[in-house]
Amino acid sequence: MDRVVNFSAGPSAMPLEVLMRAQSELVDTNHAGMSVMEMSHRSKAFEDILENTKHLLKKVMSIPENYKILFLQGGASLQFSMIPLNLLQKDHEAAYIITGSWSQKALKEAKKVGQTTVIATSEETQFRNIPDFSQITHKENLSYVHITGNNTIEGTRFTTLPKTDAPIINDWSSGILSEEINVSDYGVIYAGAQKNLGPSGVTVVIIRDDLIGHAPDNLPTMLDYKTHEKSDSLYNTPPTFGIYMIGLMLEWIDSLGGLKEIEKRNREKASLLYEAIDQSSLFYSPVNKEDRSLMNIPFKTDSEETDKAFIEFAASKQLVELKGHRSVGGMRASMYNAMPIEHVERLCSAIREFEEKVK
Ligand SMILES: *Cc1c(COP(=O)(O)O)cnc(C)c1O
Repeated sequence: MDRVVNFSAGPSAMPLEVLMRAQSELVDTNHAGMSVMEMSHRSKAFEDILENTKHLLKKVMSIPENYKILFLQGGASLQFSMIPLNLLQKDHEAAYIITGSWSQKALKEAKKVGQTTVIATSEETQFRNIPDFSQITHKENLSYVHITGNNTIEGTRFTTLPKTDAPIINDWSSGILSEEINVSDYGVIYAGAQKNLGPSGVTVVIIRDDLIGHAPDNLPTMLDYKTHEKSDSLYNTPPTFGIYMIGLMLEWIDSLGGLKEIEKRNREKASLLYEAIDQSSLFYSPVNKEDRSLMNIPFKTDSEETDKAFIEFAASKQLVELKGHRSVGGMRASMYNAMPIEHVERLCSAIREFEEKVK
């Protein structure tokens, strides 16, 4: 077996143990005599899988009783619409903090639904930082405040939250399960699975139960959170394989010691790479130090040609998917939970070796 070191932003690397386990159960899952992919979503065998995944997510994230877990489709991108369609009340505004292209996309969809307001943005610094929102005090008639907790493309991350009475909605697609948080600080946390949860095709929505059931009557059934809450994500056929894989990922995290241990590892990994970048006289991080992401780490040289040469150099050492997002350029290393520290060490060595070589 020849597996590369995969720095892809998503779909992204999964733990080998988890893939091997899925392989071993592929044709006969949980002794059902059939694969999870062949099971009716209404069967007892699948119900057990769904319950197990929900139970483990609750346990690993310490999700309080008054929150519901939904497994939906349409990606994080459909949540950009479902959030305002369900939560933006008449004569109210939806507030957005703009920290990159995903939050811009979220705002664009909300504008189609109702009144919005941008309460902070870091657009003027090309999103190199999380903007200061400490001055934002009470604002009347806000339905919610939307943030992008971890900015996958720009490489920034929220470490504090706005002070507000309105529920905070967090697009945490690339941050979920990477560190400990207090779920009750949020009204909704949503995430496309393909970054840090499992395979693509399933979106996890963790929603405070009092926020469900306020959608207008003319909202299509499939877009209403109530539909999915009432039917326990089984209104229609859910992404069964994805839900199963998230369960395996959570079992793996739980067996390692939960989010406390995962966060410790992620901090170690990130500081190792930031250190290598900061010590280099060739490479630099475009991101403000206090706001640096633990998951997605962009870095650059002063020349596009050198960037390209480095990406090729790294690929020759089986370090792949390091090309930065086309809007940012340079390199980006995404280092989700599945990536062991040894893989990050190999990237750090490649950085030092390359610098030595081009000197
Ligand atoms: C990847 C990503 C999205 C888009 O997710 P899809 O599941 O492809 O719709 C949205 N927000 C953030 C922060 C992301 O990283």
